[in-house]
Amino acid sequence: MNIATWVSEQAAARADAPAIKQGDLVLTYQVLDSAVSRCARLLADAGVGVGDRVALIMPNVAYFPIVYYAALKLGAVVLPQNPLLKSGEIEYLWNDATPKVAVALSPVAEESSKAGELTGVPVIVATPGEFDATIAGAEPITEVVDRDGDDTAVLLYTSGTTGQPKGAELTHNNIRSNTVTMIEVLQATSEDVIFGGLPLFHVFGQTCAMNLSVAAGATLDLLPKFDPVEALRIIAEDKVTVFEGVPTMYIALLAAAEKVEFDASSVRVAASGGAAIPVETLTKVEQVLKFPVLEGYGLSETAPVATFNQFSKPSKPGSIGWEISGVEVRLVDEQDNDVPEGEIGEITIRGENVMKGYWNKPEATEVAMRGGWFHTGDLARRDADGFIFIVDRKKDMIIRNGYNVYPREVEEVLYTHPDVVEAAVVGVPHPVHGEEVAAMVTLREGSAATEEEIVDYVKERVAAYKFPRIVRFGGLPKGPTGKILKREISIN
Ligand code: AMP
Repeated sequence: MNIATWVSEQAAARADAPAIKQGDLVLTYQVLDSAVSRCARLLADAGVGVGDRVALIMPNVAYFPIVYYAALKLGAVVLPQNPLLKSGEIEYLWNDATPKVAVALSPVAEESSKAGELTGVPVIVATPGEFDATIAGAEPITEVVDRDGDDTAVLLYTSGTTGQPKGAELTHNNIRSNTVTMIEVLQATSEDVIFGGLPLFHVFGQTCAMNLSVAAGATLDLLPKFDPVEALRIIAEDKVTVFEGVPTMYIALLAAAEKVEFDASSVRVAASGGAAIPVETLTKVEQVLKFPVLEGYGLSETAPVATFNQFSKPSKPGSIGWEISGVEVRLVDEQDNDVPEGEIGEITIRGENVMKGYWNKPEATEVAMRGGWFHTGDLARRDADGFIFIVDRKKDMIIRNGYNVYPREVEEVLYTHPDVVEAAVVGVPHPVHGEEVAAMVTLREGSAATEEEIVDYVKERVAAYKFPRIVRFGGLPKGPTGKILKREISIN
């Protein structure tokens, strides 16, 4: 078992079919397989062997899958990193993961090179054009090193629910099972053109776009940097059939669709995950762009998908669907007892998709995996039809005067205001109430709405302890996948 065999199997089955597209560049499966085999030689020459970590620092370019599968082919472990990290952050990861070598795309390789000097990790700088020639000149390694399903394939750094970034160890079997199940969920085939705008260094893009596309023999259409106008153009020109994004990408697509002409009729299904998609946004995307959006849920530690809305039942907007095959979910209280139907509990997960553990962190692993179930830190309830609704993250819950306020519920109301483009609700310290509910709101261009008006709008629609007494207008800080970073919002 080694997920790198997907590449050679597809090359044998459909040599001339397009595997990867990036702008005008198209790699067929045969070309991809050959590049992977040759790149494996470069890595082997750099000393990479079974179990060694290979850091991969690139945006969504065709070199990403080439280096990824080349490292796996040798039985090594891929350490994909956000290309925006600074040398100090990279140094932390490399001291923890001790990679044998790093491969970084020029020009983002500068920070990696600095980190290389600090840690002694050799950095291969992949300069577009030059790197093609280096790969082409290498003698291919065709053998795929056999691995056990339980062997680690990828090390993904995530903060988890607490603390410093930790490396979630995803095994070949974690990724294989999640990829194969997602092919079933999205009914993907070799005819599909999969939108590749989600960062590949993040688990959502890596499993649900890249691995899914390659395992299905489909075409992965890469967009190195997400831009909604460019995304609409690619959808129309390349006849994208499966769109995948985080909620802020859908919000951006809707805004772009008001300004430019578009034709999204080729898209047969879209998937949203990574954060809660406001019901208002999901409904508008279905109305304006005219494709169905299935919302799912998962984490780096679960490879990532745990639940999804699936074609076998009509979706419920606002719900993350239910368990995908091979995955079990229980909602539990503080004592790890199941909560009754309809009540709020923490999502815990067991199944083929759950990571082996956190790299070199036995205590953090023990805490997260207590009782054999992975504890997510996300709160949810389940309805009588088995659909799960995320209420919020445990750590984002606001306690005002002893009452629990779930920011998501308030955000859903804010999103129904016609002038609100984006909104995030956070708690701010308060001398009397403990915490006060506050909202940071981005308004539509040219809106004349005032902060008081927004306060009143929500006040009319939710219980008195929930509405934001403080509303501020401004932009929202976002992470590399486009997730809103609540902890970086400061409201005073
Ligand atoms: P990451 O490990 O970066 O993928 O982040 C995982 C976290 O994203 C989860 O613990 C959730 O808090 C959040 N998340 C993912 N999907 C959803 C969703 N559909 N609705 C709400 N939160 C989500």
